[in-house]
Amino acid sequence: MSTSLGELRLVQPSTVKEAVAARFEHPGSRFIAGGTDLIVNMRRGIIRSDLLVDLSGIDELTEITTDGLDVTIGAGVTLAALAHNSEIAGRYRALAQAAEAIAAPGHRVIGTVGGNLCLDTRCIYYNQSEWWRSAHAYCLKNRGDVCHVAPQGKRCHAAFAGDLAPALLVLGAEIDIASAQGVRRIPLSELYVEDGKAHLALADGELLVALHLPLNPPPSGYAKVRLRGAIDFPLAGVAVALAASGPNVNSLRIALTGTNSRPFLVAGTEPFAGRPIDEKLLHELDRLVQKQVQPMRTTIASANYRRIAAAALTRRLVKKLFAEGAA
Ligand SMILES: Cc1cc2nc3c(=O)[nH]c(=O)nc-3n(C[C@H](O)[C@H](O)[C@H](O)COP(=O)(O)OP(=O)(O)OC[C@H]3O[C@@H](n4cnc5c(N)ncnc54)[C@H](O)[C@@H]3O)c2cc1C
Ligand code: SF4
Repeated sequence: MSTSLGELRLVQPSTVKEAVAARFEHPGSRFIAGGTDLIVNMRRGIIRSDLLVDLSGIDELTEITTDGLDVTIGAGVTLAALAHNSEIAGRYRALAQAAEAIAAPGHRVIGTVGGNLCLDTRCIYYNQSEWWRSAHAYCLKNRGDVCHVAPQGKRCHAAFAGDLAPALLVLGAEIDIASAQGVRRIPLSELYVEDGKAHLALADGELLVALHLPLNPPPSGYAKVRLRGAIDFPLAGVAVALAASGPNVNSLRIALTGTNSRPFLVAGTEPFAGRPIDEKLLHELDRLVQKQVQPMRTTIASANYRRIAAAALTRRLVKKLFAEGAA
């Protein structure tokens, strides 16, 4: 049973400046890009707004450009355009693989990079209809005062489940954020906070404009486990970027999604540089990942399954990239 959207007004700016100004002038308004997450959440009554600022008419957000220093991807680029761009597929394989693994083709032609990076966190007690949530008792994240996952705590553990973020983290992405004060650039990792109720470090009305990727990243890959292979959020998603010389690691980056309230880079991979990629290293990686993921009972798959799956995906990706000659 879905909630009526009621009287809804739409503002359609044609520049970033106008979009930011429109949000500033209308407190309580929301940006809408493809709407594939926002509208579902509004229909469920978990996000409320009577004015949407539509980003789909802003041409400057839809470009992928290269200037010899880096590749810039606009926040309004669709997931389908990203997945099918030959430069992205050639240079940033993890990113193309992640885009291709999001939802279904119908979502990917309209869903955007910005919407994916600013996706709300998810939980089985939250992503439900108004009727379901009122019958079960509302939770801490929305209108209630208890977390059904961790009733003793005072924090929401809803999981971030966007697929693009881990790929972008291992590739060293930075993002541009626009506000009424101008544009600031930060590493993508600084966009996220480990708090399921407030996981984005964005001030109200700030707009993600674009992301930047260094031109010569190491070989990379992305893999996820999900309940329905054709259309589903990751229960655990892993991106790896691996540079090797001969049998040894040169550099190794691993990032995860689906297990915590934020996507994150696994800490402590630097000491693997110079070591051979053998069973001992893979075993240590397995333990490192299992120690840092914090899945909670926010999906119908168990937390332990997601922990083990994250480590298994990591091991598999590292072996695959190495076998392909990650030079
Ligand atoms: C059935 C189904 C399956 C799905 N499966 C997956 C999946 O497997 N993996 C996955 O990652 N996602 C999945 N999604 C979620 C969604 O389709 C994608 O994440 C998509 O990329 C969201 O982009 P959008 O443009 O539609 O975002 P919107 O719904 O328009 O926006 C999402 C949020 O981001 C904010 N926002 C949008 N653009 C910006 C911006 N430029 N700056 C600041 N804030 C912004 C909006 O205000 C909103 O809060 C699924 C959705 C459905 C319905
Ligand atoms: S983790 Fe707890 S507070 Fe957060 S959405 Fe789930 S039940 Fe609600």
